Amino acid sequence: MYKIIPVDPFNLVLFGGTGDLARREILPGLYRRFHVGQIPRSSKIICVARKSYGKQEFSDFVKKAITENLDQHLIDQDTLAQFLSMVTYKSLDANDNENWESLKQSLDLSLITAFYLSVGPNIFSKIINNLDKFDLIRPNSRIVVEKPFGHDFDSSRELNNILSKVFSENQIYRIDHYLGKETVQNLMALRFGNVLFEPLWNSQYIDHIQITVAEKGGVEGRGEYYDNSGAMRDMVQNHLMQLLCLVAMEPPSIFSPDAVRDEKLKVIRSLEPLHHTDIVLGQYGSIGSEPSYKEDAGNPRSTTESYIALKCKISNWRWANTAFYLRTGKRLRKRVSEIAVVFKDLPHSIFQDHPQINGNVLAIRLQPNEGINMTVTIKEPGPGGMRLIEVPLDMSFAKSLNQEVGNLTKAYERLIMDVIRGNQTLFMRGDEVEAAWQWTDKVISCWEKHRKTPQIYDPYTSGPEEAYMLTNKDQRRWREIEI
Ligand code: NAP
Repeated sequence: MYKIIPVDPFNLVLFGGTGDLARREILPGLYRRFHVGQIPRSSKIICVARKSYGKQEFSDFVKKAITENLDQHLIDQDTLAQFLSMVTYKSLDANDNENWESLKQSLDLSLITAFYLSVGPNIFSKIINNLDKFDLIRPNSRIVVEKPFGHDFDSSRELNNILSKVFSENQIYRIDHYLGKETVQNLMALRFGNVLFEPLWNSQYIDHIQITVAEKGGVEGRGEYYDNSGAMRDMVQNHLMQLLCLVAMEPPSIFSPDAVRDEKLKVIRSLEPLHHTDIVLGQYGSIGSEPSYKEDAGNPRSTTESYIALKCKISNWRWANTAFYLRTGKRLRKRVSEIAVVFKDLPHSIFQDHPQINGNVLAIRLQPNEGINMTVTIKEPGPGGMRLIEVPLDMSFAKSLNQEVGNLTKAYERLIMDVIRGNQTLFMRGDEVEAAWQWTDKVISCWEKHRKTPQIYDPYTSGPEEAYMLTNKDQRRWREIEI
């Protein structure tokens, strides 16, 4: 069993505390941390939003959020009642001056106080300015900012400027929940905690790397927001680039927030600009009575990409000429996220019946079934000579660590505990986000200059045909999108 280290008592002010993210992830996650004894009872969680709620009505809302989003065996009525007594509600509109004073009065600001912006980006600056105006910020305050962190380089810089007027960089937690996943951190443990992989982790032994984040769902419900964003801004600029950084970065000299983030920044800065033939855009069509992307987005003329595939290169000593294929999309065959490190084929086969032996593949699965899987070549058991087969060496965390999948600490709760502990390793630094936008903006202007439009693809497939060409022309193949 893993060890639980309780955090100090804290205040968490959750702006957008009645929203979808709070309901599905943040409140259930906080309950789980309380249930395992990590959150002290004297902590306070204050949910903030505009609607007015009666005390009981809000308590029922939180209870429902927890019971609907967690396995029943985690819920015991005494613990739940204690947790509910820690969670209160404050009605407040970020855009006006009412009720901020009363929010302040309800907080003991000598405690660590985290302000979590789980609201739309249109009110980020209002909240930040009001926290300052109503004197809620102390040296032990922290601010957590949800994605999207800007829409392009200019807006991300503007948001960084607004934040840095009232918070210092070590108080700012730009959240990317992909970094909170067990496997993503294990990627660092695997690379830098074993002698086995690092000597091979370069262009000499690695043929290419594939990063896939495939979603089965469409954009229903978020159509208007998504249509102004698209897969590049919504997924690549943050989640996929973070994964790329972790897989490609040099070993930091020490596992400290700035040492790790310095190395990630170097990767982003070493990304080569893309050629338009390295970019594939797609948009899902309709199937049966299910609407197409354009219908979901409510925009019949939309040219926003619900799918993107890229071939990227990192221009440094370790990775010269190694292809990094990135793809993400909606309405694909399965919901799968993985990083696959494909090693080079053997230079020479000594086995006459097997003149060519495929390189090993190390697949790091983020979801579902977090774990690490490696294909190795072995002799097929039994008589009949030296017949070779490829088999998986499987390390599923749930099995190896004797935990049920539902018991693995989830990304949001882990990251919130890091905020309280003051550990920024798994959060993006301001310069990192800006550099990621700089590269993203260049990719977008490249396809706009070449008037690239998305190819329509059939829902529940692996994406547009054109994406196959991206790898086929290099005599490579995408891995199947399957569980
Ligand atoms: P949501 O369901 O629309 O919730 C928005 C919340 O903000 C509600 O509690 C809303 O309550 C409150 N709010 C809106 N305007 C307000 C104002 N003027 N003053 C105070 N409170 C206000 O949004 P969400 O899906 O939870 O997303 C929240 C943030 O997380 C967004 O930035 C989103 O991009 C990001 N995010 C969401 C997800 C997800 O899975 N949902 C995943 C990653 C990132 P009232 O209307 O009562 O004020």
